[in-house]
Amino acid sequence: MDVPRVSPDLCDGCGQCLSMCCADAISIEAGKATISADCIVCLACVNACPQGAISEPTQPPKRRPRLPFERRPVERLRPGPPAVLWPPRRS
Ligand code: SF4
Ligand code: SF4
Repeated sequence: MDVPRVSPDLCDGCGQCLSMCCADAISIEAGKATISADCIVCLACVNACPQGAISEPTQPPKRRPRLPFERRPVERLRPGPPAVLWPPRRS
């Protein structure tokens, strides 16, 4: 059985995933989380990781923004003129 994957580039060894694991399948080795074969693939750790370092076996890891939502630099997320969402454009 495939277990979730930890991206060593994103994991900072904070240990938050350990407390979420009901199977005691996660350990920190050399400052990075490691998931053992005891994993029951409940995926609790995927949602618990603040770095987005743990991904389901079939999905690539995604880095989550560190800033609170309201402090995110919006102009960097969507460059260009503001989008007109309403009324819808007619062609
Ligand atoms: S919660 Fe994420 S960043 Fe923290 S140790 Fe676990 S995998 Fe690494
Ligand atoms: S998927 Fe569930 S059982 Fe497996 S390592 Fe993550 S929290 Fe533990």
